[in-house]
Amino acid sequence: MDLRTVKFILTTTFLVIIAALIIGSFSNNQLLIYIMLGFFVIYALVYLIGWRCPECKKHLGKLVARQCKHCGHRLDV
Ligand SMILES: [Zn+2]
Repeated sequence: MDLRTVKFILTTTFLVIIAALIIGSFSNNQLLIYIMLGFFVIYALVYLIGWRCPECKKHLGKLVARQCKHCGHRLDV
């Protein structure tokens, strides 16, 4: 999976979770909780599996600069 795609999925799922949280606090819809949990699982999986350096395969964690903190590989994000 492309690192840009991973970043896009992470941003989108994160926004959906936040939106579900906000809407959920105003309404009493249980379905929203399940949607939120579903997206949270997707977020966690993509973060753990996809958010890795394409060069050394190590987890990137919080990205400070646009390069891998383990091997210094420039990242296209
Ligand atoms: Zn690396």
